[in-house]
This record gives sequence, structure tokens and C-alpha cells, in this order.
Amino acid sequence: MIAHVPSLEALIHELGKLPGVGPKTAQRLGYFILKSKEEYVNALRQCLAEVKTRIHECPLCYSYTESTALCHFCADPKRDDEILCVVEDPSGITRVENSGVFKGRYHVLQGVISPLDGISPKDLKIQPLIERIEQQRGDPSGKSIKEVILALDADLEGDTTVLYLSQMLRRMEVAVTRIAHGVPLGGDLDYVDFRTLGRAIENRIQV
Ligand SMILES: [Zn+2]
Repeated sequence: MIAHVPSLEALIHELGKLPGVGPKTAQRLGYFILKSKEEYVNALRQCLAEVKTRIHECPLCYSYTESTALCHFCADPKRDDEILCVVEDPSGITRVENSGVFKGRYHVLQGVISPLDGISPKDLKIQPLIERIEQQRGDPSGKSIKEVILALDADLEGDTTVLYLSQMLRRMEVAVTRIAHGVPLGGDLDYVDFRTLGRAIENRIQV
């Protein structure tokens, strides 16, 4: 790295904080930005500013939205209110949507239970999930949630979260299922193709 160019060093330092970006990649990205055209750098600057100012959490499912009220999926009147798919993060919604087999509603946990990382159930959107199920059941104009599908990774944290949620939700007389078939043990949903995920949803198992 060229020393004594503090602004470039600062850029490389910040880029190096991105997940999956090591020092060499950070350096390459830093030089790429430096050599890029002004329009690209301006567009990048604008995107960075807008993701922080325009995007917020949907108050019902805790996904991301630019809407001032509910997100696209919560506001859509055509979706099935009786079936709820629980995902770890908003990107899980995109993956389940791409499978094309699910037409219900979503709930984003914003993580999974991970004692090693100090993430306990209270750090996740589990209480809002319980409240959502209770609220929907008590609403005479709406339909109550009959099934909750847990679309979580098949790893230790995913399994721990499935066990915790299935115990909580069973008491609420809600059918709890987990996507299973086709998702390899230790499988990360990020790497499961949409057809496999579609089958995994269709062949979900009771937990
Ligand atoms: Zn929503």
C-alpha cells in the first residue's frame, strides 16, 4: 500500500471491515474506487446514503422496506394470512419467494439463537412473533395463523432456534413445520437453489 495517502488508507481501512473482504481485496477495491469515473463514485456515495436514510423495518414482519407503513408482502391483500414463514433475515424472504411455492406471510427473526455469539431469544424478534399470532387470533376481521413454517438453516444455530420456537409455538396451538427435504445437513439456505428450496417447503415436516 502507498503510505502517506491518508484518504486512500482510510477508504481501504473502511472497506476492509466489510464481511468477506480481506486486506488484499480491500486494497484492490480502494484503488478501483480511486480510479473510477466521478459518476460511479457519486452513484456509490448516493446508494450508501440512501440505504441508511430510506430503508427502515416493516413494523409487522421486521423485513426491510422503503414504504412508510407496511412492506410489500405485509400489505399485499392477495397473500394467505393463515400461513407464516419465519426466516433468519430479509434475504431469506427473497430466497423463499424465488422458490415460487409460498404465498403466505413472512416474519423475520433478525438472527438465530447462538449462545457462542451471545445471541439469546430476547435479542431476536420472537416476542413480536408471539404477539403477532395472538393478535391475529383475536382479530375478528382477520384470519388466525394456522401454520408457522420455520425456514432456517440446517446448522447448530438453526436447529437450536427451531427447537426453541417449536416449543413456544406448540403451546399456542399452531402447527409448526420446518423445511427439510433436499436441504443438506449443515446446509446454508444461501447455497440452496430455488428448485431445491421449493421442494423443501412443499415437503416440510412437523416439528
Ligand atoms: Zn412486512
